[in-house]
Amino acid sequence: MTLIPLPAFTDNYVWLLHNGTHAVVVDPGDAQPVFEALELLKLPLAAILVTHHHADHVGGIDLLREATGAAVYGPATEKMPEPLQRLKEGDAVDVLGLRFAVMDVPGHTAGHIAYYCDGADVDGTQQPLLFCGDTLFSGGCGRLFEGTPAQMLVSLDKLAALPATTQVCCTHEYTLSNLRFALAVEPDNLELQRYNAQCVALRNNNQPTLPSSIAQELCINPFLRTRQHSVMEAADRFDAALASSTSDSSREIAVFAAIRTWKNQFK
Ligand code: ZN
Ligand code: FE
Repeated sequence: MTLIPLPAFTDNYVWLLHNGTHAVVVDPGDAQPVFEALELLKLPLAAILVTHHHADHVGGIDLLREATGAAVYGPATEKMPEPLQRLKEGDAVDVLGLRFAVMDVPGHTAGHIAYYCDGADVDGTQQPLLFCGDTLFSGGCGRLFEGTPAQMLVSLDKLAALPATTQVCCTHEYTLSNLRFALAVEPDNLELQRYNAQCVALRNNNQPTLPSSIAQELCINPFLRTRQHSVMEAADRFDAALASSTSDSSREIAVFAAIRTWKNQFK
């Protein structure tokens, strides 16, 4: 398998996965970069996987479906371009000889899903693959447009529990701005400092910072680290009232909510 992030708009990626005979794309907000890649690779499009209903993820579906006849898969409960096969947690989709399990990950949108394959041979290395749309970003997470902090925390916990080597393929190149915020939360996190320098160098060379991995995100992403003392203390510094709560589980949610609110205001 070969995995390629196709840049779209200003900071989206349409992920293209191919096995040399067929290609699959994820979240084609724009059809044009996909048509160009298929032309260059001389490959037919077998399927389109979609994580949620936002325009920058669905905008290219109709043109691609009409031109290629590719099967379209998407969330069970969101308003989507039709026709498509609707999926929810517990379903699976078989493409390119791989099986992707569907996970419900509400928070950014109410019906957001993610696609997880427990092992794909990508350029000679056997790796789990995750297409997580706008739920988990490198160094950050999606905004809570249609969900609560409690829902998003459950969704991120599910993703964080995937194998450490899982390749995290998110839809946006938000990494550097996310890491600027992460460094404000955890200025003393040495791995975060190292990762930030690595990502700055990649962007200076016009290279994507993605895919990331679950192992990497567990070390640097404040939204996966809300139970770390450093992050809990930072949430208190931002807003002691918001970050405080009586019970342990609501304390976790309160810390997560405080960090998310802080990120929304961060400049
Ligand atoms: Zn979105
Ligand atoms: Fe998006």
